[in-house]
Amino acid sequence: MALVVQKFGGTSVGDADRIRMVADHVARTQRSGDHVVVVVSAMGKSTDQLLRLAGDVSNSEIPPREMDMLLTAGERISMSLLCIALADLGVKATSFTGSQAGIITDTDHTRAKILDVRPDRLKEAINEGIVPVVAGFQGVSIEKDVTTLGRGGSDVTAVALAAALDADVCEIYTDVTGVYSADPRVVPNAKRLPRVSFEEMLEMAATGGRVLMLRSVEFARNHHVPLHVRSSFTWEPGTWVVEEEPTMEQAIVSAVTHDVSEAKVTVVRVSDQPGVAAKLFRALANEGINVDMIVQNVSAEGFTDISFTVPRSDLAGATSAAESIQQELGFTSITTDSSIARVSLIGAGMKSYPGVTAKMFETLAEENVNIEMISTSSIRISCVVDEADVERAMIALHAAFELG
Ligand code: ASP
Ligand code: MG
Repeated sequence: MALVVQKFGGTSVGDADRIRMVADHVARTQRSGDHVVVVVSAMGKSTDQLLRLAGDVSNSEIPPREMDMLLTAGERISMSLLCIALADLGVKATSFTGSQAGIITDTDHTRAKILDVRPDRLKEAINEGIVPVVAGFQGVSIEKDVTTLGRGGSDVTAVALAAALDADVCEIYTDVTGVYSADPRVVPNAKRLPRVSFEEMLEMAATGGRVLMLRSVEFARNHHVPLHVRSSFTWEPGTWVVEEEPTMEQAIVSAVTHDVSEAKVTVVRVSDQPGVAAKLFRALANEGINVDMIVQNVSAEGFTDISFTVPRSDLAGATSAAESIQQELGFTSITTDSSIARVSLIGAGMKSYPGVTAKMFETLAEENVNIEMISTSSIRISCVVDEADVERAMIALHAAFELG
């Protein structure tokens, strides 16, 4: 008898019909002899609607504690509706808020981190043959306030519960049939990957693959929770995200991802001496800005340029943070570009296979796509290009590495 955690995203519980279909699937899983724990997201776009409402009643910064109280209401609606639908099918089910499910977090409202999971009430329910239905994306802080885990956080709830309950699998139900070799809306012949390693999935989630929230993949890898990403519309088998087995033949390149959410900042003509980069990036860190790629030019006459990328939503903050130390660092100017895109190649096999970078650059050159920045890890190569070129670049790379 297996223990299965099933997480249903917003589109999977988007309306009453969808909730009944999910209830039917949960009922069937239970009837097949497995224990089920369900985690739900808020219905459809309701989190966005709540965010808009908060903006409509306020022109100033929204108190984070109240924002969390508001947003957690979305998941409460879906958890109770699903339990009502399950009761209608004769399945005993009980809803639990994040707090009731024992998700203990820090006090960092709107992006809290899980500190501990104490799922005693869920265990009791399971032992009594009751299906626990847990509100995703939320917890309770060590100061007893309701918190949320950041956008997309229901994935984290599901993985954290799967780890704490020692579940056999964490199934993530969504509106696509799994993880693809590229975004099928851009590359029509992209294909579903039957399995990927945690490392590949981490790189994909970090470079624009939107299927799983990055933190949930980190959590799953650290706690050895196998993930199965699949569709709640077709219910067919999807993509397994699992530990890399040494015997597994690794694909050199598994996927092409893209990200158009970042902007580039260049600090022009800073002096090339110790401590300059430290001061610049400390100023950005103090504003809570996450810097991604960084490139420093070869220095000429003791001066150099430093370029880096930040989320577009942080561009104004990054510019003013850099400006605030302009006198101290003595650079001449700051230039920004918010129409960049990043295209990345990911594959666990590339670490032991030369020539992938050369082929990537050749392919982009043939397409006349200019590369503005480059970064690599042992299983990823990323290039920053003009946003206008990114779809052409993806299609060409997907074809060149025969991923279709
Ligand atoms: N409802 C939340 C969001 O839209 C959490 C989630 O769906 O995972 O971000
Ligand atoms: Mg999601």
